[in-house]
Amino acid sequence: MSENAMRLSRSGKYRSPVMAGPVVIKPTRAVEIKNALGPESNYAAPFRPLGGNSAATECTSSSVGTVIDVSGLNQIRKVDPDGETVTVQPGVRIGDLVRELAEYGYELCGGHDLMSRTIGGAVAGGCIGPTFGDDGAFLSSQVRSMKLVTPAGKSVEIRSDQQNLMHAFRMSFGMLGVIYEIKLRIRPIRTFAVTHRRCTFDEFGAVAQKIANVDVGLKFFLLPFRDRVYLDIRRDSPGATGTHRIPWKVKDWGESTVLPHVFKSISRIVPMSGVRYRIIDEISQMTQGIVNNRLVSTGSNSTSQMSSVKSDDAARTLKYSTWFFPAADFAIVVQAYRDFCFRIQETSGFRCDMPTVGFRIGRDNTALLSPSFDEPMIALRAISTQSKGWGDFAIDFGDFARHWGGSPLFNQTREVPPEYPSQVFGSRFSFFRKIRRQFDPENRMMNPFLSQYFL
Ligand SMILES: Cc1cc2nc3c(=O)[nH]c(=O)nc-3n(C[C@H](O)[C@H](O)[C@H](O)COP(=O)(O)OP(=O)(O)OC[C@H]3O[C@@H](n4cnc5c(N)ncnc54)[C@H](O)[C@@H]3O)c2cc1C
Repeated sequence: MSENAMRLSRSGKYRSPVMAGPVVIKPTRAVEIKNALGPESNYAAPFRPLGGNSAATECTSSSVGTVIDVSGLNQIRKVDPDGETVTVQPGVRIGDLVRELAEYGYELCGGHDLMSRTIGGAVAGGCIGPTFGDDGAFLSSQVRSMKLVTPAGKSVEIRSDQQNLMHAFRMSFGMLGVIYEIKLRIRPIRTFAVTHRRCTFDEFGAVAQKIANVDVGLKFFLLPFRDRVYLDIRRDSPGATGTHRIPWKVKDWGESTVLPHVFKSISRIVPMSGVRYRIIDEISQMTQGIVNNRLVSTGSNSTSQMSSVKSDDAARTLKYSTWFFPAADFAIVVQAYRDFCFRIQETSGFRCDMPTVGFRIGRDNTALLSPSFDEPMIALRAISTQSKGWGDFAIDFGDFARHWGGSPLFNQTREVPPEYPSQVFGSRFSFFRKIRRQFDPENRMMNPFLSQYFL
């Protein structure tokens, strides 16, 4: 038994029920979470909360203990237009909340893809999109208060005036307890203008520094093997009209549903990698050309998030890993990333079939484990529909990212060595660990994946 596993099993204060393998429970009332974590519980540690299950790492799973699937807690409790807040249970899907808010003429602050993830997962994990202005870089920055059950089975409420605690609880990856209610800031639907640009890596590198330092919503798609970058740049445009939903739905469908499906099929029926990747790149380029350049010129967070919760199914099976790079270095990093992709393909034969997606992430110092706590960052998400070769690629991508000072997110970044987070997060990491130990001295929320960083 590993040292971590031994420490996990040494919980003296709680019952030690004899149970084999992980148990999954799906509470529909907060009291069931309380009972599950409380001293009289029949469930075994470690406890891991689970939302939409779209994490790329093992932060939601455990081979033993209890997984608490909160997706059954899915009520929108109160939309308060006057106070500009909404109160929800954690299992509410982003897509469902966006639709409900639109009925009131309101929207979430920030555009966030993948409508099937839960608000709980987005707040307890990292949730990014092409945000700008007062959007806040991560959705967790919009949390006004949250109620949760602590690892010891007690209910607590954390309010925004408890600043230090709030900074620890946002993006805490379920280590400080299970959230059962969240109050989020919302705002009246606001329009933005969208500009689309297509350029080469050299051209992108030349303007990357400038773009990175401007407060715009930036999402981009990198096609290293075609030397193409497709940019989606969003700016405030209060006077903009015609923010129709259908073009945004088509855009999202092209990017998130069509490409993964088509690429999976092509990989099955075209065995020769040279031909396969030529076809794949051709389709990517065509799709980006159509969906990004022709369809939308205006939008809002509300219309850009109108894709259906169900249409995410194909996307959720993708392999991905996201790293955050200082925006100030990105002009060089993006060129180096292209060289890296070529090098890996030459040496291992593997390459990602999906375009790499990037976002500009503004400074966000509202969470201790925020990758952009000190400065704006650029997120790069490498994505593949193929499992074979992906594991080694994720390791190499991790080496590349660390070389360039990359920061991780514990639910989205794969292959982070145990000692690395304390190097990049510094004293904030030690502070978070201290708070974690106070809330969970028995390490009841620690599975082996989290233990390697936080014990
Ligand atoms: C195709 C695809 C596209 C994506 N696009 C984006 C994107 O554009 N932007 C982005 O930021 N991410 C993206 N992601 C990553 C992922 O969706 C996010 O990390 C998301 O925040 C996870 O939400 P979830 O509901 O699936 O949470 P889960 O993966 O289930 O959980 C995430 C973390 O939160 C914890 N948690 C969940 N619920 C609770 C709770 N109630 N209380 C306490 N802790 C809890 C879990 O233990 C875990 O540590 C994408 C993923 C895929 C597959």
